[in-house]
Amino acid sequence: MKRKPFLLLTLLLLCFACQGGAQQPGAQAGAGADGAETEDTVRRVTLLFAGDLMQHQGQINAARRADGTWDYTDCFRYVRDEISSYDLAIANLEVTLPGPPYTGYPQFRAPDAFLQGALDAGFDVMLTANNHCCDSHQAGLERTIRVLDSLQVPHLGTYRTQEERDANYPLLVERNGIRIALLNYTYDTNGIPFRKPNVVNLIDRTQMAADIARAKRMNPDVIIANMHWGIEYVMTPNKQMRDLADWLLAQGVDHVIGGHPHVVQPVEVRQGKDGAKHLVVWSLGNYISNMTKDNTEVGLMVNLTLEKDSVTRLTDCGYTITFCSRPAVSGRRVHTVLPASFPQGEMRPAERERFNRNIATARRLFEKYNVGIKENNRQ
Ligand SMILES: [Zn+2]
Repeated sequence: MKRKPFLLLTLLLLCFACQGGAQQPGAQAGAGADGAETEDTVRRVTLLFAGDLMQHQGQINAARRADGTWDYTDCFRYVRDEISSYDLAIANLEVTLPGPPYTGYPQFRAPDAFLQGALDAGFDVMLTANNHCCDSHQAGLERTIRVLDSLQVPHLGTYRTQEERDANYPLLVERNGIRIALLNYTYDTNGIPFRKPNVVNLIDRTQMAADIARAKRMNPDVIIANMHWGIEYVMTPNKQMRDLADWLLAQGVDHVIGGHPHVVQPVEVRQGKDGAKHLVVWSLGNYISNMTKDNTEVGLMVNLTLEKDSVTRLTDCGYTITFCSRPAVSGRRVHTVLPASFPQGEMRPAERERFNRNIATARRLFEKYNVGIKENNRQ
């Protein structure tokens, strides 16, 4: 899906080149009323959203090396090229980075190398407002932010102070001349309170309305809300989520991307009154985890193409289904994210059975409920 627009663009450019018309990538030529050539620049950006970056004890054990360090490089080896091919790739960091000791469920304390593995895979922006962001309390919440800042990773959702939030939220990211305002909220912090001066973005319509108004004052081309919401293990959105998505879109949010339930939920492209398309992803599912319950090994990478001339439109979107596999490499189980297109012959029989069964369940769900979006590279 990603390559198609570029292929078309390449063909167009070749076509113009044949006619001797020098064109910049992303530019379209047209004839003015007086017959003179005019140039209307169409800017284009491609975005990717992946699900929850979870880390359980089994992953910590698997990533530990003999020298006492941790290495997650292999976890993303089969999805790295796809992630890296987008202009901006965004994921939910559902762990804290408090330094040792490292623990899995129920309070996620991950080695910094876990984040580095995700960054090396091509993720650009990290969401931190989720129910696990307070798992290592104030010290961990603050250190997570320090680590992200030290690596110059744009992030949003949790803040050390209100002043820090005021200076950085909503997060505005500009790519290819398109200004993207990102929002991020969570329903709760697993009952672990956060205390002043820390701030966690909770789902609160009064606060969100103020934030959306603030986002609009930043003169963005698009506003995208990332919501940590929903009921665990339920594969369809509930009324609360539907009401909230409707409300966010009515407030002026362009696209709503959700996560948290550990399973995928359907994806909808809605047509606004003005013809604009709005993407609603109810749940991206787990991207990487040590969960094995039915359907929790499946996740989504959803891609969007935005084009801007006088307005900015969603012109293309699709998704890749992923499966978190655990192949044995040198006697060690390595948590490895596989795209649904991964060769079947390279999996152990038991794993192949789970891969096929869980992906088939997701496809049945999507065939039944998806609106206006198709799986990449499938007829
Ligand atoms: Zn969650």
